[in-house]
Amino acid sequence: MHSDVHADLVEFACRHCTHWWLRRFEVWHVYTHTTERAYYRQDGHWTMAPYTASGAHTCRHCGTPVTGRRLERRRLPAPPSIP
Ligand SMILES: [Zn+2]
Repeated sequence: MHSDVHADLVEFACRHCTHWWLRRFEVWHVYTHTTERAYYRQDGHWTMAPYTASGAHTCRHCGTPVTGRRLERRRLPAPPSIP
């Protein structure tokens, strides 16, 4: 099993009120012989993937759930062991 870590820059654009914001996530990919799983972290907390409905963020102006769109992904230096 091994893992690597990327940093995603994620855009959230509310379709209801046009409010727009950005967040950074760490993406931890964990590989075994047969599987690959991705875990997302924001501000030191594990969180749902921002690209799915269950990980949607809420617009702070109008309360609409907004799913993220990845603007950028870059590889981070080799990670320590998974916390
Ligand atoms: Zn909104």
